[in-house]
Amino acid sequence: MNKNTSTDLNLVPFVSVDNMMKIILSVGVENMLVGIAEYLEDDFKRWELFDKTPRVASHSNEGVIELMPTSDGQVYGFKYVNGHPMNTKSGLQTVTAFGVLSDVNTGYPILLSEMTILTALRTAATSAMAAKYLMPKGSKCMAMIGNGAQSEFQALAFKAICGITELRLYDIDAQATEKCMKNLQGLGINIVKCDSEQTAVEGADIITTVTADKQCATILTDNMVGSGVHINAIGGDCPGKTELHKDILLRSKIFVEYPPQTRIEGEIQQLDDDHPVTELWQVMTGAAEGRTDEKQITLFDSVGFAIEDFSALRYIRDQLETTGQFQNLDMLADPDDPRDLFGMVLRAKGATSDKGE
Ligand code: NAD
Repeated sequence: MNKNTSTDLNLVPFVSVDNMMKIILSVGVENMLVGIAEYLEDDFKRWELFDKTPRVASHSNEGVIELMPTSDGQVYGFKYVNGHPMNTKSGLQTVTAFGVLSDVNTGYPILLSEMTILTALRTAATSAMAAKYLMPKGSKCMAMIGNGAQSEFQALAFKAICGITELRLYDIDAQATEKCMKNLQGLGINIVKCDSEQTAVEGADIITTVTADKQCATILTDNMVGSGVHINAIGGDCPGKTELHKDILLRSKIFVEYPPQTRIEGEIQQLDDDHPVTELWQVMTGAAEGRTDEKQITLFDSVGFAIEDFSALRYIRDQLETTGQFQNLDMLADPDDPRDLFGMVLRAKGATSDKGE
């Protein structure tokens, strides 16, 4: 097994896409969603000690590229992630990502990982963790509008963490719904394919919106949302990119990750800057109330925050020893004399000449 040791800190454990898939298959996708949710819960409960900043975004007409950093004082982490809704038309994904954890004491990276798949897992685990605190008691049925890359992960997280057994699917692209149904076949969820957003939300306790469009879209209008529903709004995560009609927001109790970021990127960019919101971590520590009555509409206005990526990377790092699914990358220069970086290069030239190259 490849194993990093204290004597080869220049070798950074790297989790490739192939490694990640093997970790998921060996741990089991639902176990992994539950495991990541536990790490998320631990980190949300110590929210105050983290360095926090809205993510650093570089916008273009086609999409956005973002850096998402945080630190708990001992470990530093960041994710590189893009969001390009038109990518799927040319066979590329809307969201791709990779991430790093580093030791704060030395500044040396201790993990480099693919995060395209891991982002889908952490987003789904975060959604289900939020719903566990906010959904109406005994929820069994979820509508999911948008059946793309994130959708199966969302479905399985809600099954494993919230006990959802019925899924009502709708996507403007029927092929996306077919794909989602096929992938979830035999996994213990009763699936209904719907022909409109309106039909999809009928009888649902939870509504997940997870569409991709770089505009202020109206996936849900006010009349579609009955009292007592929990809304898990995932796809509105950029300035100028929302999914819900403003009137729904005005009827809902709104929960967010990190207000300074969500006010720029979330559904609440449609509201005044002082519109009241509750931070999810406070509900989890008991510092704030969650749902206060059965008829209330609760809304998790998710945009994805750096601490969630940090938790997911922490989880992956803790799986390396048992799964052995990583490679050591020769990523950090390691001269014998730390100040003789140039000499190391010269010696490499000598070694190359010795080989007659
Ligand atoms: P995707 O492109 O794979 O899937 C999006 C799906 O939405 C597609 O199947 C598309 O046909 C469908 N869609 C678009 N407009 C629709 C509409 N009006 N009605 C119904 N369906 C519609 O994208 P993805 O990777 O699944 O991501 C979905 C969204 O989630 C993106 O906007 C992404 O930025 C966002 N996201 C948010 C977080 C978070 O933490 N909040 C994390 C990851 C992704």
